Amino acid sequence: MSRAVVLGGGLAGVLAAAALTRHADEVVVLESDHYPASPRPRRGLPQSHHNHVLVAGGIRALDELLPGVIDDLLNAGAHRRNMPGDCLIFSGEGWFHRVRTDADLIACSRPLLDEVVRRHIDVEVIQGVTAVGLAGDAGRVTGVSVTTDVMTGEPGEVTTTGATPDEIREAAGTGVISADLVVDATGRRSQVLHWLAALGVPPIEEVRVPSGVSYATRLYEGPGDIPAVMVHPKYTPARGGTLFPIEGNRWIVTMTGDPPLDETGFDEYARALRDPVIADLIENAKPVGPIRPCHDTANRRRYFERARLPEGFLAVGDSVVTVNPVYSHGMSVAALTALRIAKEGPSQQAVAEEADRSWRMAVAEPIKGAGNPRVGRALLSSPGIAAELFHSQALIPAVRDHQAIFQAIVNDLEEPLTAEQARAQFPELNAWDR
Ligand SMILES: Cc1cc2nc3c(=O)[nH]c(=O)nc-3n(C[C@H](O)[C@H](O)[C@H](O)COP(=O)(O)OP(=O)(O)OC[C@H]3O[C@@H](n4cnc5c(N)ncnc54)[C@H](O)[C@@H]3O)c2cc1C
Repeated sequence: MSRAVVLGGGLAGVLAAAALTRHADEVVVLESDHYPASPRPRRGLPQSHHNHVLVAGGIRALDELLPGVIDDLLNAGAHRRNMPGDCLIFSGEGWFHRVRTDADLIACSRPLLDEVVRRHIDVEVIQGVTAVGLAGDAGRVTGVSVTTDVMTGEPGEVTTTGATPDEIREAAGTGVISADLVVDATGRRSQVLHWLAALGVPPIEEVRVPSGVSYATRLYEGPGDIPAVMVHPKYTPARGGTLFPIEGNRWIVTMTGDPPLDETGFDEYARALRDPVIADLIENAKPVGPIRPCHDTANRRRYFERARLPEGFLAVGDSVVTVNPVYSHGMSVAALTALRIAKEGPSQQAVAEEADRSWRMAVAEPIKGAGNPRVGRALLSSPGIAAELFHSQALIPAVRDHQAIFQAIVNDLEEPLTAEQARAQFPELNAWDR
């Protein structure tokens, strides 16, 4: 009997687990956190306070892996927006023309997305179990060391071989859970490089490229029938903002760059962007909750596939590649990767191929060596690169209308729209016109 143990019950973890059910007899997910009873941000997922858009490639991959999940998201209140047909976008070069393509995006809160996805997954997630290391040696991973937050008894062996989910769930203290395959999906803060080093695995090459931006996000009460709004930066400092309608008649508004966290500062920052459209929209909207910061936005790639990894080990998700969140990619990479695993079985090379599309887009210039990374040019800074952004942002393979998106960008240059003309493309914005 083969057992796969997935570490981390975030999106990459549960999707990889769903994919692995086609290849392993038993699949178990260990999650250190506890899921909330209803869709709410949680401690183990600090980014769940922030805007999480699912782009076209991710929508397709998710629906293929878990048929019906996108309909369920929409029924639960998520919004589908055509890109750029339903998006008011002020790019570095100008306002986008309203061109319909077959590339959509899904806007909803991250907690809702996670909850609906989990409803579609027939894999047990054991909560309150934290991975603290790997068992085995440099040649083969044989299990995972864990602590549970039950902690009612003396620390001791949870189990050795043949543990059942029941034994794991009821165990207290520390122990080792055996597995034929251990999948690291513990995200941005993954400690797996230390765990592999402790087994004697040679260092994994890691490249970090600072993004230079932080995030500030606030929710507002607001109707769902408005376009997604994006005001991109032109030069550094890369000040921009987005507004997406999400479930429950709310808008999620994010400022990027170096946004202040106090109320007045946030509003002034929005108004000082290259166009004040977002400030105009939120001026009379009622805020819901505080302004939430996020400073953990660096780009980072770990080249597991280049290392001599032990048998029985795989890394997925943000543990492998994490890019500046302005590119809205990580969840789609997780979905595309899971689809590859479902079709091809666990393969670090397949994970790497999906990771690299995202990485190349976020860090435009090639990185010369781990020790001396050159900061990539911001993709939003030129029309050619912006076109590439939209190509990659949709993580396209199946999107036919890349050309139409490109056309929308080129039109910016040839027939520039004024701010008034751009807004007039969306009559539903009239209610907020100054
Ligand atoms: C501010 C921000 C905004 C973003 N916006 C977007 C967006 O618009 N679109 C998009 O596609 N992506 C976005 N992302 C990226 C997205 O959040 C991730 O790519 C996505 O969550 C997939 O990551 P993951 O599952 O690998 O990690 P995570 O989602 O971080 O999940 C990791 C899980 O592992 C658990 N865990 C951690 N350590 C342990 C341990 N030792 N043992 C057991 N469990 C553990 C955690 O509790 C968590 O549940 C954004 C990221 C940030 C930071």
